[in-house]
Amino acid sequence: MIASESAVKTAGFYVNGAWEAPPGRIAHPVTNPATGAVIAQVAYAGGEDIDRAVRSAQEAFLAWRAVPVVDRVQPLYRFKALLEKHAADVAATLTRENGKTAEDAEAEVRRAIQMVEVACGMPSLMMGDSLNDVAGGLDCKTIRQPIGVCAGITPFNFPAMVPMWMYPFAIACGNTFVLKPSEKVPLTPTRAVELLHDAGLPPGVLNLVHGGKDTVDALLHHPLVRAVSFVGSTPVAQHIYAAAAAQGKRVQALGGAKNHLVVMPDADLPKTVEAIIGSAFGAAGERCLAGSVLVAVGDSAEPLLALLARRTRALVVGDGSQSAVEMGPLVTEDHRKRVAGYIEKGVAEGATPLCDGRECETASGGFFLGPTIFDHVTPEMTVAREEIFGPVLSVIRVGSLDEAVALVNRSPFGNATSIFTASGKAAREYSSRVEVGMVGINVGVAAPMAFFPFAGWKSSFFGDLHVHGRDAVAFYTEQKVIMSRWF
Ligand code: NAD
Repeated sequence: MIASESAVKTAGFYVNGAWEAPPGRIAHPVTNPATGAVIAQVAYAGGEDIDRAVRSAQEAFLAWRAVPVVDRVQPLYRFKALLEKHAADVAATLTRENGKTAEDAEAEVRRAIQMVEVACGMPSLMMGDSLNDVAGGLDCKTIRQPIGVCAGITPFNFPAMVPMWMYPFAIACGNTFVLKPSEKVPLTPTRAVELLHDAGLPPGVLNLVHGGKDTVDALLHHPLVRAVSFVGSTPVAQHIYAAAAAQGKRVQALGGAKNHLVVMPDADLPKTVEAIIGSAFGAAGERCLAGSVLVAVGDSAEPLLALLARRTRALVVGDGSQSAVEMGPLVTEDHRKRVAGYIEKGVAEGATPLCDGRECETASGGFFLGPTIFDHVTPEMTVAREEIFGPVLSVIRVGSLDEAVALVNRSPFGNATSIFTASGKAAREYSSRVEVGMVGINVGVAAPMAFFPFAGWKSSFFGDLHVHGRDAVAFYTEQKVIMSRWF
């Protein structure tokens, strides 16, 4: 629920089953990236708010852990039905605060629903193993038990889906949860929590707070928080991992990315170009799976770039809520300036712009930047090395698949990569040799479905167990082995 104590509505907290808008908290504006207009404000939780939310989760845990798993998933079934019923309005809220197109927003909401669907299967997913007569008259079994209060901290780019990588799985396992979504996009997670409230989740099982670094640090240092799930940029992921692990908390921290799209000379040209466009410029490049470096192998570059540049120049940039628009704005003006700064750096360091996003003109006053393609990029250039998180694609030409593999493996990141080829041998070799967590073969955005695990390698991930799929069950439970003998 959005409290409206002042002229601009404030996204408040949800604690112990009730919506709160405590007065006197620092409030920050939430903008519509397509217009620049302030559409709401978000209150930042302080230490005492966090303590209240965590204690409510701890109190609820004592009862929730004892609810049979078949009963625990019933509110999630109702939540899924409500999400389906309200999918269009959740997607519209998402577009309004994040800027992505209506099509991207609807696809994200569908993915979020799939997370809930998979979490509803927890009665099967949580089963342990057993073996009788492991020794004379001795039986052995494993059981999975919930951990306690779990915390989730999420980024701005998938405000419907990323929180659902976490809390549906955590609560279906019998844990309780405190969610701190990105302060830039608090309205979509708020809408989802409203629906879960309507689905009849007991008070305290899921709590929602907002804020920035201080709010997160209060969560990280709360002694009752037993596990922390984080998704965001690499420096923050490193901080979260170190701080949570130092206090003995279980932690999974997914970080930033610099994803390479490798194109072999035998790739299907038109289909490859469409996949590259979707990967590099879909969601304005604000995806952790976005293709950021195009590695053109052998003589693939000339025909590929000719078609790619033509198609890119024709992309319709504008307000994502308009149906013809193919690429929306960036999330904030600060982020738009940061991405434009990378384009300036690319030019200064000698890359050749085939398309320059700074020339993009749109009618409204939002945070727009058109798609940019740099040719003749070298691996040392800043645009080839750093995560930009915007619609900028850098092209590096290499002579062979071996060179492509070496280039990709030199990157400190290892989130996702794709190869485009007609050769099974090349695809097999590439997917086996790259030090990357998620690999696409003729797929531009290699996003695993809810029933598979999702995470990168190297500086893209800190932890052991990935998000969703079976890893989520392992992450949100403690395993116990019971040996029994009856006299
Ligand atoms: P971010 O790291 O700035 O913020 C993520 C979350 O951390 C937010 O909730 C924010 O409030 C909080 N936060 C920010 N600074 C903090 C600090 N110093 N201490 C504690 N908490 C802090 O990320 P973002 O800009 O919201 O999202 C974009 C980033 O997320 C990109 O780097 C992208 O690659 C990454 N991302 C990764 C994945 C993945 O699966 N690996 C998925 C989505 C996004």
